[in-house]
Amino acid sequence: MPAFVIHCHGVRGSVPVSGPQFHHYGGATTCFEIEHRTDHRVLVDMGTGALNIPALLPDDQPVRFTVFLTHLHWDHVLAIPFFGPLYQPSNEFDFYGHPVMGMSIEEAIDAVMRPPWFPVTFRGSAAKKRFHHLDGEAVVVDDLTVRHTRLHHPGGVTAYRLERRGAAIVIATDVEHGEEASDAELLEFTRGADLLIYDAQYLPQEQASIRAGWGHSTWRAAAELARRAEVGRLLLTSHDPGRVDEEVDRVVEEARRYFPATDAASEGMTVVIPAAPGL
Ligand SMILES: [Zn+2]
Repeated sequence: MPAFVIHCHGVRGSVPVSGPQFHHYGGATTCFEIEHRTDHRVLVDMGTGALNIPALLPDDQPVRFTVFLTHLHWDHVLAIPFFGPLYQPSNEFDFYGHPVMGMSIEEAIDAVMRPPWFPVTFRGSAAKKRFHHLDGEAVVVDDLTVRHTRLHHPGGVTAYRLERRGAAIVIATDVEHGEEASDAELLEFTRGADLLIYDAQYLPQEQASIRAGWGHSTWRAAAELARRAEVGRLLLTSHDPGRVDEEVDRVVEEARRYFPATDAASEGMTVVIPAAPGL
């Protein structure tokens, strides 16, 4: 049995896109699922990629969702109002994340999921919802241990390290490199992981000019981090909404010159990470 099976439901940054030029990598925004149980789904973020999930659910039993939110920018929560299981009273949701700008997770989502922006309120949705503000302690979900840290991004962002059966994966999207404390923290947090999923939204020349301070990183910083942290594999994510398939292909080629075990996440991709020997 592998330690992790990760489903990439959405890997686009900033805003969903569609069109044949995005066919391979996909247009839905960030949502990763860590395969757990049929009736208990573990997600990191609920960008529009989460809308691929309801079709995969059993139709005859309640489902529990454990959702780790990196932050509350639109592209990471946009599926929530449109997520059918949220309106079924037998379903349960546990949301984990950090409060932002003095608002709890519930208050922040409810502030924008309500008329006139949406016909119903978040608080009024039928499923049972629980909210957990992260405080530095690891979260344990059955056999899964989830650690977190805060990194550099406008308003802050949470990165997650998930550990199971002697293996570890790190999901660090929407992080801008170049801030000393954040870079050092991420290096330690990532060290030795079997898989690093990392924000490569911008090209190095974009990040170095007009897009400096916009909160994203590059394939170059991704490869550098992967090498220094001695991770097993690197998966680039948060592809820029303007980056067509051939351009993402070129990004992967460039990154592989620095860190050969690099791929770009694509919508519908599944990544399997084996358990440590003997576990
Ligand atoms: Zn963001």
